[in-house]
Amino acid sequence: MSSHAKPALAVIGGSGFYDFFDNEATHVEVETPYGAPSAPIAVGEVQGRPVAFLPRHGKNHEFAPHTLPYQANMWALRSLGVRRIFAPCAVGSLRADWGPGTVAVPDQLVDRTSGRPQTYFDGGGVHVSFADPYCDDLRTATIKSADDVLPMKGAGTMVVVQGPRFSTRAESRWFAGQGWDLVNMTGHPEAVLARELEMCYAAVALVTDLDAGLEEGSGVHAVDVFAEFKRNLVPFKDLIRRSVAAVTETDTCDRCRVHTGVSLPFELP
Ligand SMILES: [Zn+2]
Repeated sequence: MSSHAKPALAVIGGSGFYDFFDNEATHVEVETPYGAPSAPIAVGEVQGRPVAFLPRHGKNHEFAPHTLPYQANMWALRSLGVRRIFAPCAVGSLRADWGPGTVAVPDQLVDRTSGRPQTYFDGGGVHVSFADPYCDDLRTATIKSADDVLPMKGAGTMVVVQGPRFSTRAESRWFAGQGWDLVNMTGHPEAVLARELEMCYAAVALVTDLDAGLEEGSGVHAVDVFAEFKRNLVPFKDLIRRSVAAVTETDTCDRCRVHTGVSLPFELP
């Protein structure tokens, strides 16, 4: 297979995912109407199929959650032919029974970010359905790919905060009191921009810490979060690889299409 084949599947994750492929990846520079994505997009093979990988925070982690070029990232993937995206991410847990090393496949999202452009449609009556923000097909592929290395939770609500600071104890207790399970800084607007471009999208969350409301020490510290993520990176990457391999349909599923009832103000890239 040519490494230039169009990737229908993509993974957006940490730079630790660069060795995700079975072969040497090709790096594709993409320009979009929204500027350049976080990094050139790597295209390689997973079990004989072309898969795109975008390091969310840039090659050397140069983008913070609130400065990420979310619009460019999703546009660039779509323009390469991507239709379905797994989005592994690090999360804090709002539940004592979901400790570090737990993997959760959320089914709901709460947006607590501010000031991030979260649409491609600044004019006209385009309102995408977002009641179910994540693709059920992709969620199922990951849930079925679980093994006994990382405990798996097959649903949950992820609240996305603006960051880059971590939550206060009061905020964290408030989130937990709402029945929300996980807290993260990058899951929005990634998910809704994928929906607007008619791409299936599923977040796969690796718990790195108990959030401040549960934690009894001096709070959440970045150094501990990065160390914990690294500790579970190999089995987490294996899970994502198995999830990618488990996806047989390479087009957008019917539920993740836009269905706005109006014509889109631009051609999808
Ligand atoms: Zn879908």
